[in-house]
Amino acid sequence: MSTEIPDICERSPAYVRAIAPYEPGRPISEVARELGLDERTIVKLASNENPLGVSPGVREAIARELPELARYPDGNAFGLKAALSAHHGLAPERIVVGNGSNDILELVAAAFLAPGRAAVYSQHAFAVYPLATQARGAQSIVVPAENFGHDLQGMLAALTPQTRVVFIANPNNPTGTFVSGRELSDFLDRVPSDVVVVLDEAYTEYLPADCRYDSISWLKRHRNLVVTRTFSKAYGLAGLRVGYGLCDPKIADLLNRVRHPFNVNSLALAAAVAALADREFVEKGCEINSSGMRQLTDGFSALGLEYIPSVGNFVSFRVPRAHDKARAGAVFQSLLRQGVIVRPVGGYGMPDHLRVTVGLPEENRKFLEALKVALAP
Ligand code: PMP
Repeated sequence: MSTEIPDICERSPAYVRAIAPYEPGRPISEVARELGLDERTIVKLASNENPLGVSPGVREAIARELPELARYPDGNAFGLKAALSAHHGLAPERIVVGNGSNDILELVAAAFLAPGRAAVYSQHAFAVYPLATQARGAQSIVVPAENFGHDLQGMLAALTPQTRVVFIANPNNPTGTFVSGRELSDFLDRVPSDVVVVLDEAYTEYLPADCRYDSISWLKRHRNLVVTRTFSKAYGLAGLRVGYGLCDPKIADLLNRVRHPFNVNSLALAAAVAALADREFVEKGCEINSSGMRQLTDGFSALGLEYIPSVGNFVSFRVPRAHDKARAGAVFQSLLRQGVIVRPVGGYGMPDHLRVTVGLPEENRKFLEALKVALAP
């Protein structure tokens, strides 16, 4: 005889029930429906997507794959790993593919975190670190940021014997802040070798030349390092969900054991191989990004707004308070009504900021014009 459970959800661990859901950027279709706007007039600068869209080579690769959709994808991602192996000069055994790089972050959490263990990450760091940590019942050790960026010394000091994972986003989202290769390398030298360091480089392709560093060369020296990369940003494949982790073969083996057998679909696998080969697309995207970033930051200065200098494809700006009340929410709503979607970042402990993705010149212009209207007294 079954005993009745008053609320089945109460049987879920308290740490799962305490999770605050991830708040994605508002989709164009949803905003159009809610506000009665024409989808074609809406500009979405809310999810750090690539404004160039999908490259022609990727479209062809997807078309070639369509007749095979009745079959499961290659669960070992042989073709993509071979392409990544050549691209990075690393053995395929060091590569783990993911359903977005988000998947790799979760795999690290699944493999190394559990109740009684801890993860260290920075205040204002990417939202998936707390989510992945909490879902495993592990403790989050959040280190106060320094000028919105990672305080690596503080993170070192925060490590406890229970700490199994450190997450670092470089550049970080939503702040766009950056730590230098030298600082990171010093950090890795000082972190105990039994703590996994996840270096999340989702936006690394956008780094200006003088900020670049070679994290992949560190993998041989630091067997506790996991570098994550994504096809969602500079490669323009956010909708297909494909990313990867680079690490010691033993860690890769562990991550593959907790990975879903077919976590990357066949269209994504084919598209990623084609995207990796298209250097020009990435370069063009980076050029458009750096001129668009200037357009946005010049626009903020003209409006008298503070912003956090960013080396990503997005920038967070501060909305001045009105009568001691955060006004960012009202500005966000006004922008929405004007058909411009940006991202509130209150959930990141930045209630006075909004984050905007760098778009095409005309999208940036539309955003800045709408922002001026939203800020008008
Ligand atoms: N890391 C950072 C810092 C991000 O901003 C994002 C995307 N918002 C991701 C990882 C995950 O991206 P994806 O799963 O699309 O690779």
